[in-house]
Order: sequence, then structure tokens, then C-alpha cells
Amino acid sequence: MKTRGQDSTVSDTGQKPAIQVICLGASGGPSEESVTAFLVRSVHSGWARGSLLALDAGSHLAPITRILERDFPTVSDGKRIDGPEPTVLTSGPFSGLELPHASARANALHVLRAYISAYLITHPHLDHISGFAINTAAFHATSKPKTLAALPMTVDAIKQHIFNDVIWPNLTDEDGGVGFVTFQRLKEGGDVMVGDGEGRGYIDVVDGLGIRAFKISHGVSTKVAPTHHHRGSISGFPDIPVINETTQFMARTSQPSPRLSATAMDIPCVVDSTAFFIRDDHTALEVLMFGDLEPDSISLYPRNRIVWEEAARKIALGLLRGIFIECSYEDAQGDAILFGHLCPRHLISELQSLAALVAEARATRAMEKSLRKRKRSVANGPDSAKHTVSVHNRKRSRSLAGRSVAKDIRRSSAPGHAASHVTTSPPLGQTLPAAAGLKVVVMHIKDTMKDGPYVGETILAQLQQHEAQLDESGTALGCEFVVAKSGESYWL
Ligand SMILES: [Zn+2]
Ligand SMILES: [Zn+2]
Repeated sequence: MKTRGQDSTVSDTGQKPAIQVICLGASGGPSEESVTAFLVRSVHSGWARGSLLALDAGSHLAPITRILERDFPTVSDGKRIDGPEPTVLTSGPFSGLELPHASARANALHVLRAYISAYLITHPHLDHISGFAINTAAFHATSKPKTLAALPMTVDAIKQHIFNDVIWPNLTDEDGGVGFVTFQRLKEGGDVMVGDGEGRGYIDVVDGLGIRAFKISHGVSTKVAPTHHHRGSISGFPDIPVINETTQFMARTSQPSPRLSATAMDIPCVVDSTAFFIRDDHTALEVLMFGDLEPDSISLYPRNRIVWEEAARKIALGLLRGIFIECSYEDAQGDAILFGHLCPRHLISELQSLAALVAEARATRAMEKSLRKRKRSVANGPDSAKHTVSVHNRKRSRSLAGRSVAKDIRRSSAPGHAASHVTTSPPLGQTLPAAAGLKVVVMHIKDTMKDGPYVGETILAQLQQHEAQLDESGTALGCEFVVAKSGESYWL
């Protein structure tokens, strides 16, 4: 067996990588080439068959073919120059994968058929599903159907509007279709019945990777359609995930924004999209990958904060390695013409929300740690001390039982409340920027197709400029920005 090229399995964070994300496409159009598509795998599961998860598939087989052409240097005119034995590439995103065929396109089809078993789709817009739809023509020789995993609103839209025997044949296994594709309808917020500990709620979509889905908002629609979410209530969050304490807290405390003070009938339809937490079963490490989204600050139905609360908790626990998020436009794009997307100033503002929540989550952890330490030391102390502290701890347990201890602390003005411990001892990592070490991979760049620098470069420069300004005022985020590029691989 031949091996070629250089070893590329080096973690981007300097630690042992747990998750590899391959960018197939990072564009939000208008060219159909390289529109949004990623592949995700657990490093621990190796290159086991069926272990690759596709996250959106606006483009798919074409970029896989192009990447293999690039990384298969001894191929000429579609034929490998030397022997017929299987080749294992040791450079590029598919480093370590055994390729049995001579040509890049035959190997690309092999990758699709043998290794990619599930497609996780953020929302049904064409730039996220068109490659998948076209590529279904190659699914016929696979031994089992490919899974399309998504929230029910996305599954329903794809079923009704793509695989309807009008736009495309019904290749699904529902309603008399031929069965190349099967649907996995995910529960929003995760499935409370599966997993335990930090893995609770995560649904396995491929071997070694579990996911949790959160709905996010992606602009407004002028139509009321089944695929679009319409707020059923203006008094809170009617369909937020309920399996974790964070979101329960949000449900209890979130006040409707003044923008939502009209009657429900007056509120236009909000287009739903999805953010996925993807968790490596082996290490419990995660990445967070967003579908298209708009900023909470201008959304009719702001829901990013729910995702940020969960992300902040994971960052405080040291479990979240990276965030993949869109930044479609440069800052010159006005708020009125964002069409449900982000630009650098809004991405920075969203990350500031995350950073504030990370600080809260770290304060909470610091308090919990100090509480455990205190309990341990008191356990060996005199009876009188035990009594005093047990009363104190009971008060504290009540506080901890609430969703957000940090918020309980802020609200409390009672002297002697557990809050005193938090305010007198600095939160963990207080001197570090909140998002220090976090990789933020920016994608869904909408190409201006104009002369001059590529808009992705402008977006990156603007993000770095915002970060430099924050740094000057002592509030740097500390994250590393990268603009995703087709053919690149991220080790997290
Ligand atoms: Zn898009
Ligand atoms: Zn979209």
C-alpha cells in the first residue's frame, strides 16, 4: 500500500484533535460553485466506513472530486501512474483514507458511497441542499439509504418541495419513493431520553458523533408557509428546547422585545434555520456549526442567545473547540439589506454576547468549585461549624437549583447571600479574554463577483479590526478568526 505527501494531522489548537471538519464549500453564492458544504468526522473513529457526516450539501461531489484531484499528485489523464494497489493519501483533508481507484472521480464516488452516511441539513435553502439533491443520482449502488437528518421543518420542506416527483424524483423511502434517502427527524434541543451527563440529549447521526439542534432565525418571509415558523405567542419562546436548565431559564425570564409588542397576527413569518452542536463521543469535545442566521439585535424572533448560553457553558467546561458561523456580507451592507444574514459588526456583537455569558458561566463554575472545597474542609471541622455551613449551603443549593447562578447572584441584594463568595473571589480565567483559544471559522461568504480583493479578505480584515478596537478598550474577545475555504481542513 502506498502513502503519499506530508502528514497533515496536526491540531489547530495545539492539542490532540478530536474532530476534523473539511470545508467543501464556504460560499453563499451567487456562483453555484462551492456553496455551503462541510464534512465532519470524529478523529477517534478513524476512517471507518460510514463515519463521515455531511453538514449541509449545497456543493458536494464536485468539490470532493476536485480535492482528490489536487491531492492525488501521481494521477495523469485520470490514471494513476504507478501500481494498481490501494493508495492512502497522507496530505490534504482526506489524509489517511484508503482510496482503491485510479482516478479522482472514481475515488470521490467511493468516498460518497462508502464513507458519508448522513447529511445534516441546517435549512432547506437551495445553496445548502442543491448538491445533495443532484448527487442522489449516485446513491443507487449503496447498501443502505443515506440519512438526511434535520429538524422536522427542514425535512418537510425538502420532502414536499424537492423530492415531489416534479422538481426531482421521489428518491426517499416515504410515500412510495425508491428508498435511496431516509429521513431522521430531529428533536429541537436534543432528545431528553438519550445519553447522560454532558452527553445528554445528543442524538447519534454517524458513528462517534452526536448532535443537538437549536432553531435560529434567518430573516423574515413575506409568506406564511409550512416551512416557515410563525410565532404562536408573543409572550415568550413557544418552542424552545426544554431539556437543559439554560433554556428553561430563558423560557421563564425572557421578556418580549418591544419589537414584538404587536399582536401575533401582525408579526411576519420568521424563516427558521438551525445551529448544531456536534459532539465527539470519545472525547466529549464539541464544535458548534450554524446555518444561516441573522443578528438577535435586529431579529423579530431573537434566538441566538439560547445557543450562546449553551455554548458559554461548554466553553467554561473546556469542551467547545470551535464555532463555524456565517458572515455573508462586509460591513458596508446596511441592516435593512442583510436579508437574514450577518456582517462583521453583527458577528462581533453576537460574539460579545457569548463572551459575557462565558464570564457568567465561569463565575458560576468558580462558585461551585469554592462551594465544594468549603464542604470538604467543613466536613472535618467542629460540629458548630458544620451546622453554620449547612444552613449556608442550603441557601446556596436553592440558588444553584435555579438556571443561572450568576443571574441569581446579580439579582440578590441580601447580605450574606452566596453571592459574596463570587464577588470576592475572581472568576476562573478572569484575566483571559472570554473566548481565548476559540477558533471561529467564518463561512457563507457572498461573493460580490467584482474586481478587487475577494470579499472574504475584506470580511476577515474587518473582523480583525473590530477585535483590535475591543482589545484597545480591554474587552478583546480573544478568538481566532479564519475564513473557511473549500479544500481546507480544520482540526479541533
Ligand atoms: Zn445560505
Ligand atoms: Zn439561507
